[in-house]
Parts: sequence; structure tokens; C-alpha cells
Amino acid sequence: MVCVVLNVWRGRPRPRNLTTTQPPVPTDSARVCRVVVNEGKNLNTSTTMTTAKPAFDETQSCWSCGAPRPIHFCEACGKVQPPASVDYFTFFRLPRKLNLDVPALEKDFYDLSRKLHPDLNARAGGKDTGGKEQEKENEQEWSLQQSSQLNDAYRTLKDPIKRTQYLLQLEGVELEEQSKTATEQARSTGQLKKQIVPPDLLEEVFELNMQLEELRMHKKMGEDDPALIDEIGRQKLELEEKQEALLQELKTRWKMWDGMIQREHNGQPVSEEERRQERDKMVDILNRRNYIRNLVRDVSEVLEN
Ligand SMILES: [Zn+2]
Repeated sequence: MVCVVLNVWRGRPRPRNLTTTQPPVPTDSARVCRVVVNEGKNLNTSTTMTTAKPAFDETQSCWSCGAPRPIHFCEACGKVQPPASVDYFTFFRLPRKLNLDVPALEKDFYDLSRKLHPDLNARAGGKDTGGKEQEKENEQEWSLQQSSQLNDAYRTLKDPIKRTQYLLQLEGVELEEQSKTATEQARSTGQLKKQIVPPDLLEEVFELNMQLEELRMHKKMGEDDPALIDEIGRQKLELEEKQEALLQELKTRWKMWDGMIQREHNGQPVSEEERRQERDKMVDILNRRNYIRNLVRDVSEVLEN
């Protein structure tokens, strides 16, 4: 699987030919890597992982000294390694769980950022004398690529919603596109935006959508309607509370998910049905929350214009 590193490393232009085997890109579930994660730290519970499958292909060895290589650096000689094709959890050596220790993740991120600094790794090749220019260049490029992976992984995992969406994509779930871009695209092309909104939620916000339409009309005609603005403003606050409540609800689902993953690691069977149910519950919460988030955004737009 070959993906292109899309982001720019700290404002530097992306070098040409920066293609590599990459971890899955969050917006494209078709390219999701399926990697068994169980190596290393479990930051959330005191239970030790019992299964011993490698987090990535550990038959790989260090390009420089031949020692078995970990994901980022060789432990034997310290040389930076070519980027491994791993998912974001594996990149941080985390199990595929949702309730993760964000301060610890942040610490790991800064630690790795320092170690993967391309300037630093230009120096790393310099320990040897002469004839090592190519190695130096390679290491610098790999540092750049790994830094890019690192930034993407961190940005995705530190955010509770992005993390959940990413995990669901790893699980093969295709999430509905409800972004602002999708909304604007739908508006400009007149196409129906692909989204799944639970009918009860639509019913709940039906009145508000009507009022919004009414206010848009008033504004177009240059008319003022303070009572309607007050009413819509009040409902906006309620929506924001609901959005927060849904995040809390999502976090309770995390516990169920993580518990299930832990049981699996402990060798207890987890049925595909149970897995599917847990996924569906999280997808439902995310769909509701996304819809409400977009509605809040629409309300703000109409109120501010
Ligand atoms: Zn080595």
C-alpha cells in the first residue's frame, strides 16, 4: 500500500518523491491498514497485555546494523528507520483503545518530535567519516517522513472525536461526511449531502430549522425580528449543551469498547456481533453529534450575518 504524505513538516516544503508506505489516512477508509496492536504500553489500566503478536512486522531489521528494529529507531545503533506502515495507535505503541492518557500521549509526541528532528538526524550520519552522504540523506528523509506520520497520528489521537472516528475507520466503518466542505459542496452543486440523521433528532430540530429559514428570509428582506433572534439564540445554547452531553455519552461507550478489547487481549472470545453493536452505538452518537455541530454552525452563521 502506497500513500502520499500529505502534510508539510513544520512549514518546510514537502520534498519531492516523498511517497512511502504510510499509516491509513483518516478520510479514506478504503486504505485502512489492518494491524494487530498489542505491543507495549497500556496507559489506561494496570492489566498487562497477554498476547504476544507483534505490533508490526518485527522480522524487519535495522538497515544499518541488522538488529531487530522497533518502529522509529534502532535500539542497538540509534539510527532512524524508514517509516513503518502502521496505524496511528501502533505508531505510539498504544493498544487500540479509546480512553487514552492524553498527557502521556503529548509527552511521547514531544519526545519523538525531538528525536525525529530531521536536522538532528542529519548529524546522526556524521558519526562516521566519509562516504556516508547517502546514508545521511536517507536518515534525514526518513526523519521527515516519520515526523509527518507523527504529526498526523498525534493530531488524530489527541482529539476525542477524531480518535473515535479513526478507530471506527480502522474497524471498517465508513463514516458519513458532514464537514463544512461537504455542506458547501452540496449547496453549490445542488446535490444531496450524504448524511445519516436519526429521525427522532430531525423531528426534535424541525421547528428550529423552520425558524432559521424564517430568519434567513427576514434578513434577506432587511427586516428585524428580535423575538425570533432571541428564541433561536436560546435554542442554540440548548444545542451546545446537547453536543457536550453526547460527548459524555460517547465516553461511556469508550469504556465498553475498551473493556471488550481488554477481554479479547486476555484471551476471552468477543463475538463479531458484540463488536458490531459497540461500533454501531458509537456511530449513532457521532452522527447525532455531527448533525448538531453543523446545526449550531448554521445557527451562528444566520445570527451573525
Ligand atoms: Zn541498528
